[in-house]
Amino acid sequence: MASQSSIALASPALRASLQSKVVWGGRTVTVGGGAPVRVQSMTNTDTADAVGTAIQVKELALAGSELVRITVNTPEAAQAVPYVREQLDRMGVDVPLIGDFHYNGHRLLADYPECAKALSKYRINPGNVGKGDKRDVQFGQMIEAALRWDKPIRIGVNWGSLDQELLASMMDDNSKRAIPWDAKPVMYEALITSAISSAQRAQEIGMDPAQIMLSCKVSGVRDLIAVYRELAIRCTYPLHLGLTEAGMGTKGTVASSAALAVLLQEGIGDTIRVSLTPAPGESRSQEVLIASEILQALGLRTFVPSVTACPGCGRTTSTTFQELTKKIDDFLREKMPVWRNTYPGVEGLKVAVMGCIVNGPGESKHADIGISLPGTGEAPAAPVFIDGEKRMTLRGDGIAVEFQSIVEDYIQRRFGPGGAATSN
Ligand code: SF4
Repeated sequence: MASQSSIALASPALRASLQSKVVWGGRTVTVGGGAPVRVQSMTNTDTADAVGTAIQVKELALAGSELVRITVNTPEAAQAVPYVREQLDRMGVDVPLIGDFHYNGHRLLADYPECAKALSKYRINPGNVGKGDKRDVQFGQMIEAALRWDKPIRIGVNWGSLDQELLASMMDDNSKRAIPWDAKPVMYEALITSAISSAQRAQEIGMDPAQIMLSCKVSGVRDLIAVYRELAIRCTYPLHLGLTEAGMGTKGTVASSAALAVLLQEGIGDTIRVSLTPAPGESRSQEVLIASEILQALGLRTFVPSVTACPGCGRTTSTTFQELTKKIDDFLREKMPVWRNTYPGVEGLKVAVMGCIVNGPGESKHADIGISLPGTGEAPAAPVFIDGEKRMTLRGDGIAVEFQSIVEDYIQRRFGPGGAATSN
């Protein structure tokens, strides 16, 4: 009998949290309490432009965003929200919309009931609900709106807009300690205190704790990890996770991935957003793709078939290998919005595109379907492996087209009606 190895899969830890429900029409997105970690995003259109906003929400939803947040900052934006919702419903896009409120949310939610109704969740920033005496009153008015329309909320604290009165009072208390803390831990405490005390206040007013989500966003990777580890210990509310102001391109992607991966592996985070600054002309959906890739890389969710490819090296003879990898990757992603419904389970498919014989056949055998292109000095032939077996060899200029068609046939056979993936 084989003995059990002491090396186990590094499965993510589980954090016991309450479960929130974000609802629109017939669609319910569960958050926390064992539900899959959800992907969120946010538009960068002027919400007063209802058509432009609806188009971008649709793009984000098609890319895989399960919740989309929109800015509600002016009477014009609040007036447009029901029209954004209407356009989406007409296009068959049932993604729940979250209203992002700062400064005047209490007034907008009261003055525009159709806006309050069309949104599925309200984001409230306790640092931006008002100062002095007005703070509690205006916060209370937003919670009352959430209760009136039966909407969940997110208490979204951000260190760029942290409640300055709270921070000043905590700094003051700190200075009276026998050995005062450094400024950073005091700031961490202020972020967490702002989130949890606001959530408790919302509960006192009547919110169901399961309908309260929290976030404490900062822009430093290690700061985010420190804050969320503590936040996760101190409460059972579902947590929305994201590195705020992550930046552009590679920097924003890497920083977000580094921070989120550590926390998600520890079971911390029930929804995520990658706050990427798009390059001019870059699609807003990029942040959704990165968030999905983070979850998929950690083995927490599967969204699209994965393409394993080697980096290429001096043994790679031509750009054919790079071109084929890109072509297959683009092809699978483009098809996914349709395949999600026609080929259930296809998102778990593993494809390998490899550059030479060194790791090509081995990696291709680990995939569902793989191809090993010829490297320097090898015969100009590309063996194709299906379900771990070498099935054919492709030659000549049409390798890319032929391989794409082999992949498509495989998907039809395995994931189509009556296919192997649906036969039991
Ligand atoms: S599989 Fe071959 S071409 Fe690809 S990196 Fe390894 S040695 Fe280089």
